[in-house]
Amino acid sequence: MRCSSIFAMSILFATSAVAQINESSSLPEIEFSQLSQRDPNPLGEKALAIHPEQWKHAETEHFIYHFVHSYAATPVSVEAEFHYRVIAKELERDQPAGDVKSHIYIFERPEEWQQFQVFGNLEPWSGGIHSAGSLFVQRNPAYKFSNNLLGHEIVHLVLHRFYADGIPCWLNEGFAQFISKDAHASYERARGYISKPHSDAIAPQDLIPLSVLTAATRPFSDRVHIFYDESERLVRFLAATDKPAFLALLDALARHQPFESALPRSYPGKFANTASLEEKFRDYASKDFGTSLQQASNE
Ligand SMILES: [Zn+2]
Repeated sequence: MRCSSIFAMSILFATSAVAQINESSSLPEIEFSQLSQRDPNPLGEKALAIHPEQWKHAETEHFIYHFVHSYAATPVSVEAEFHYRVIAKELERDQPAGDVKSHIYIFERPEEWQQFQVFGNLEPWSGGIHSAGSLFVQRNPAYKFSNNLLGHEIVHLVLHRFYADGIPCWLNEGFAQFISKDAHASYERARGYISKPHSDAIAPQDLIPLSVLTAATRPFSDRVHIFYDESERLVRFLAATDKPAFLALLDALARHQPFESALPRSYPGKFANTASLEEKFRDYASKDFGTSLQQASNE
């Protein structure tokens, strides 16, 4: 199907970009005064005020990094640019006009990270803090490509660049899981590991009604796993059903149109309303299908 071939192409393209980045060794350090852009986010200022003498800086095509040691920042930069390319292809979009770079702050010492955490909300899924287009993370062995946590946060950063006025929480989280899991698996394969993206099936009785899920402004703290898994499955389902319709829906929701009216306009003849989507989605959400977009769309 069309969407799966597009996705496969975007992964291929991004994988070759990673190979190129990997060939250059560590990220070259730049003086703060020489960075091409500043971060207007007050949280960035707060981060750099914690032991200001320790921070080093670097930038790549789409991101600016603030870090203590380049060995922590280099793998983050590779993963950041990799995800940028996958998402731009997946959204079939060019770089937004007048695009600005996203800032990523990498903390190392746990006590400094704890000190910083009082300023922002930790994402329950990844433990990073994403705020107004900037990302704050603690360097962690988990961020060395061993799972999709960093990728998930980077997807949020890139979505924020394309949809600066915000998109609904389920779409933001679902898209972040969907892209980062598939990208992580393909990145592992590019490095010679056997890896398949995994998406968890949800028991039908545990499903959050779509009217509730699509109206949520943050993940439900008592059902965090279900919220993320169901959001991911909903994004996979909508994208696999009709990719151009999914992109139209994304644009409508980014303009803050209600889900109930944007859905039938984006999927004419397929989903007359949320209830008809829910009927079809319930089977898909609870089916353990093994899980890549390719498999989903070939069913
Ligand atoms: Zn998230």
